[in-house]
Amino acid sequence: MDSGQALIVGGGIGGLTAALCLQQLGFVVQVYEQTDSTNSDGAGIQLSPNATRVLHQVGLVDALASISSKPDSIDVQHWRSGGRVTTIQLTHGGEADQSSFPYYHVHRRDLLACLTEAATHASIPIHRGKRIDDVGVAENHAWISGPDTHEKASLIVGADGIHSSVRRSLFGPDKPIFSGHVAWRGIVSAESISSKTLATRAVLWWGPQKHVIHYPVRGGQHINVVCVDRAPHWNNESWTEPGDKMDLVAAFGGWHDDVTQLIGGIDPRACYRWGLFNHPPLKRWGRGRVTLLGDACHPTLPYLAQGAAMAIEDGAALAHCIKKCASIENGLAAYERVRRKRTIRIQQISRQNGYIFHLTGTAAWVRNRVASLMGERILRHAHDYNVFASVDEYFKG
Ligand SMILES: Cc1cc2nc3c(=O)[nH]c(=O)nc-3n(C[C@H](O)[C@H](O)[C@H](O)COP(=O)(O)OP(=O)(O)OC[C@H]3O[C@@H](n4cnc5c(N)ncnc54)[C@H](O)[C@@H]3O)c2cc1C
Repeated sequence: MDSGQALIVGGGIGGLTAALCLQQLGFVVQVYEQTDSTNSDGAGIQLSPNATRVLHQVGLVDALASISSKPDSIDVQHWRSGGRVTTIQLTHGGEADQSSFPYYHVHRRDLLACLTEAATHASIPIHRGKRIDDVGVAENHAWISGPDTHEKASLIVGADGIHSSVRRSLFGPDKPIFSGHVAWRGIVSAESISSKTLATRAVLWWGPQKHVIHYPVRGGQHINVVCVDRAPHWNNESWTEPGDKMDLVAAFGGWHDDVTQLIGGIDPRACYRWGLFNHPPLKRWGRGRVTLLGDACHPTLPYLAQGAAMAIEDGAALAHCIKKCASIENGLAAYERVRRKRTIRIQQISRQNGYIFHLTGTAAWVRNRVASLMGERILRHAHDYNVFASVDEYFKG
C-alpha cells in the first residue's frame, strides 16, 4: 500500500471522519477548514447504524454515546388528527448483539466537537481560517492553494460541502435543480414545551404537500424541528438563510396541536429556511490523486436523513479501498466505483421520499397502509449497509 501525506479540504463531518480513517491507515493527515471555530449552526443530525459502525471503528464509541440520545423508534403520524400511521423501530438486537450499531440523535455542533477532539488526540492538525480555492494535479502528487496556503501531497480529498471549491476547480460549476421544496428548521428548548412526552419523542408528521420531523437532542434539553413546505422557485442554496417565523406559523396553520406548539417554541432569531436542490450525479469524482466525498460530490435531500451518513461511509470506504490497493490511483478508482452506486441509490430514495411524504387523498391512504405493514423494513436497506463488507465484496470481484 502506497501512503504519504493526505490533505483534506473541509473540516466538517465527512472531512474529519476521512482524516481519522486515513490516519489509521498510516497517512500523515492535515485538514484545511475555512471557518475559525467548530461553532457550526444549531441543527440536529440523525446518525443511523451504517454511520455509527464507522464512527465506532475510528474509536468514538464512548465519546459518541456521551453526546447522543438513543431513540428506540420514530412514530409516523397524521398531520391533523395525530393518528399513528406506523412506528419505525430504530434499534435492532440487544446490547449483546455485536452486529447491531446504535441509532443516535445528536446536535451537529457536539458531533463536530467530538470529531475535532478525536483528530486532535490523533495529532491531526486542523488549520482553521484557511480557505482553499484551487487544486491541481501533477504526476504522483497534487496541490491545494488558497490566499495564504500552497501545499502539495500524495492525496487530496475535497470534503468541502455543497459549494465545493475542489469540485469546481476540477470540473467547473455544477448546475443544481430546485426541488420545489423549502425546509424550515429551528431548535426548541424542551422547557418551553408543556408536554414532556412531546419533548422526548421522535415524530415524523405526514401532511398534504408538507411534512414535519422533530426529535430531542442534547440529552433532551432541546428539540430539533424541521418543517418542509413547497415554494414555486428559489435562488440560493444555503442552510443558514434566515426565515420569517410568522411565515412558518402561517404555512403550518391547521396542523395538530403538537406541531403548532413546537413551531411556537422556535426562537424567531434562530429560524432558518433553505431551498432544497437536486444535484445530478457527477460523472467523475476526481482526477489523478484528488478525490471528493460527502456533499462535495453527492448532496442528498434530507428525507432519508442520510447526507452525513454518506459522507461518513465515504471516509471509511476511501481508506479501505486504498488499503486494498498497491497504489493510491487504483484505490481512488475503486472508491469511486463502490461509492457511486450506493450514493446514487440513496439520492434517488431520498428524492422519492420527498414525493411519498407529501401525497394527498387516496394515494396518501394507500401509502399509510403500506407503511403500517412495512414498519422498520422501510429503512433497513440504508441502515444495515456495512461499508467495510461492501468494499471487501468489490475486491472479491
Ligand atoms: C438541517 C439539516 C439537517 C440534516 N439532517 C441530517 C441527518 O439527520 N442525517 C444525516 O445523515 N444528514 C443530515 N443532513 C445532511 C448533512 O448535514 C450533510 O450531508 C453533511 O453535513 C455533509 O457533510 P460534509 O462533511 O460532506 O459537508 P459539510 O458538513 O458541509 O462540511 C464541509 C466543510 O468544509 C468547509 N469548507 C467549505 N468550503 C471550503 C473551502 N473552500 N476551504 C476550506 N474549507 C471549506 C465548511 O466550512 C465545512 O466545515 C442534514 C442537513 C441539514 C442542513
